[in-house]
This record gives sequence, C-alpha cells and structure tokens, in this order.
Amino acid sequence: MEKYSDLITFIRQLYRTPTAHLPLHAPTFEQRDKDYVMDAIDSTFVSSVGEYVNRFEQDLAAFTGAARAVATVNGTCALQTALKLVGVESNDEVITQPLTFVATANAIAHLGAAPVFVDVDKDTMGLSPDALETWLKENTEVKAKAKVKTKNSQPQPYPQPQYQPVFNKHTGRRIAAILPMHTFGHPCRIEQIVAIAKAWSIPVVEDAAEAIGSWSRQTHCGLFGDLGILSFNGNKTITCGGGGAILTRDNTLAARAKHLTTTAKIPHPWEFDHDEIGYNYRLPNLNAALACAQLERLPDILKQKREIARAYQAFFAFRDWGQFMAEPHDTQSNYWLCTIALADRAARDALLEATNNAGVMTRPAWNLMPDLAMYAACVSGSLDNARWLQDRIINLPSSVRS
Ligand SMILES: *Cc1c(COP(=O)(O)O)cnc(C)c1O
Repeated sequence: MEKYSDLITFIRQLYRTPTAHLPLHAPTFEQRDKDYVMDAIDSTFVSSVGEYVNRFEQDLAAFTGAARAVATVNGTCALQTALKLVGVESNDEVITQPLTFVATANAIAHLGAAPVFVDVDKDTMGLSPDALETWLKENTEVKAKAKVKTKNSQPQPYPQPQYQPVFNKHTGRRIAAILPMHTFGHPCRIEQIVAIAKAWSIPVVEDAAEAIGSWSRQTHCGLFGDLGILSFNGNKTITCGGGGAILTRDNTLAARAKHLTTTAKIPHPWEFDHDEIGYNYRLPNLNAALACAQLERLPDILKQKREIARAYQAFFAFRDWGQFMAEPHDTQSNYWLCTIALADRAARDALLEATNNAGVMTRPAWNLMPDLAMYAACVSGSLDNARWLQDRIINLPSSVRS
C-alpha cells in the first residue's frame, strides 16, 4: 500500500520521530506545570480547598468569555450536573447525537433519563439542526403548561427553569434538553440548534468536552446554550490529569452549579448545613494547579495544533484517497484530533491496519451510541450521516510537538 506508507513517512517527518511509537494525542508538560503542582503540594492544600481552584475558574472564564466557570473532577460529572440544572429528571428524554464518546449518553443515563439519537451533519460531524427540527416536528407534541404536573424527586430550594413541556408522542416522555457535541473540536451548527431549541422552548446543554479553544464566529463553544461543559482528561487539548468545567453566561446558574458540585453546603465558618442532595464533584486543588499551568500555555498549544492541521490539510489537498475534515465555515476549531474521511469502510480498515502496524497510532470514530448494548433500545431518528462518517473517518496523530 504505497499511499499509506507515503502517509506514514509524512507523519513521522511531521513529528520528527523516525521509529518510536507515535501516540494519537499525548500531553506535553513544561517546567511551569511542575512548579505549580509542587507549589500546591508545599501549600498542603491539595484537596477540596485551595487558591488554584479559584484561579483556574477565573482564568477559564476570562479565556472563554463565560460569566463564570465552575471546575469539576471530570467532564462527565460536569455534564450530568449541567443537565440536572436545566431540569432533566428521571424518565425524561434528552436529544443528543449518535456519533459521540460514550460519556455524552452516560451523563443522560446517570440522571435516569434516556438519550434520543438524532443524526449529525457530514461536515461538522456534530448534531444536525435540520435532522433535529425534522425529528421534533415528526415525533413530538406540545402540551399546555397547566396540564403538566411537576414531578420533582427531591425538594428544590431554588426556582426551577420554566420550559414549555414538549413530549415524545410515542413514548409519552418529556423532551427535557438538547445536548449537541462539538466533535473533535469542530463547532457544530450551534447557532441554528439554539434557535430551534428556543422556538420549541427546550434548554440546550453543549458537550464542549473536546472544544476548548474552539469558536463559532466570536463565541467560545459551550456559551451558546444554557450551559456548556469542558473536559481536561489526559487525552484532551490541555489536561490536569482528570478534570472538567461547567461554563455559563448566567451567574445564577453558575452559583447553582458551584453549590450542587460542592455537596450543597451552605457557607459557614464551622457549621455543616446542606440544603439539597449535592455531589462531591469539585476539582482538587492539586489538579487545578496543573490546570492553571496548562491554561497559560493554551494559546501556544492552539497555535501549534493549527500548524499540524495545516500540514495535514496540505498533504491531503493533493491526494484523492483521503479528505481532510477542515473546520466548518465561520468557525475556528482547536483541531483537537485531526480527522480524514476515506472512500469506504474497507479503505478505512486498511489504513488503520497499515498505520498502527507501523507504530503510528490512528483510530476510527467511536461505535455509534445506538450500537452499544446499553443504548440499543433508545429512540433514534435517521442515522445515515453518522453511519456514513463512522464507516469512513480516521483520527490522525495530533499531539503538540514537544
Ligand atoms: C472527554 C469527553 C467527555 C468527558 O470526559 P471525562 O473523561 O469525564 O472528562 C464528554 N464528552 C465527550 C464527547 C468527550 O470527548
């Protein structure tokens, strides 16, 4: 397979590693990362309290333009909290995309709700506004507000957001939220999705776990919907070992997010009083120290990732066997994982085999959520584009060169 050895040579030159194993996405650390972590240890504040958590939240809000960011122990729990804050309860349904990492669906399931899978766009690889609108029109009915009884499972000391009740005609369950994901860092058509959600009066939570440093026009991913989340897991654009954040433009929601993720404790110098069933989802100060250092390097990391993406794009511009997935029009992607689409599944598998055998790690897209046993019985719309992409796309090594 001459064309594949051509690619392997190119990637090895790009990363200046003639022989060593090339990972898909490895983190890079510098002296500052070590200094901040050592400083957290020296301070003895390694756990749930500490200045690095506050600093990280402030720096993250400043970088993204959020009114406030709330740091959490990972992205999955940030997502679960965000869904809960917009009112998702057990037996509700949440619309999301079939092409995503399993955490997106799991966060819905962790609340006792069920995902509904609606197709993606072929170019953005994220939730399709057209498919969303079609699915809503064909499968839902709006019930008058007065007829709907609230079914809160626990006392809610705070006013719950008021949304028009939209129900799945077939299952009778409420559509409680829409959860698009910005796939591999490419912004989905989020403005159109939010406009549709507004028209139907359904809240939007954005899974921007892969999209720190990605913008649609002038707005950072995660700030279009009611709430958005980020992840700082080891394989993401920047990492603090494990970590996540909830982003919002709404200070009230941010305060609720902080409260709920920190055991719902009423602040007091010595009393332990809690006003609802909260979670211990806060980011430890030790991880926050690393997160602060990584965030300071983010602009440089993003610049380098664009250079890598440009190199791949130039390579594939002259090759008819693979199409580089460029950032969608009017957006700036962080190019978390550079992605190409091949002619068909056989070509995909041949490339996976050739590259991985040569020590250059490449990866297909995730198995579609409705193909996983846990989600096989969930409601799905058409999955044509998701299947088309799943058969063809491959992620290429995308680390920053250290
Ligand atoms: C990484 C990721 C998450 C969150 O993952 P954590 O490991 O819990 O931080 C959620 N959704 C998507 C799409 C992701 O890629």
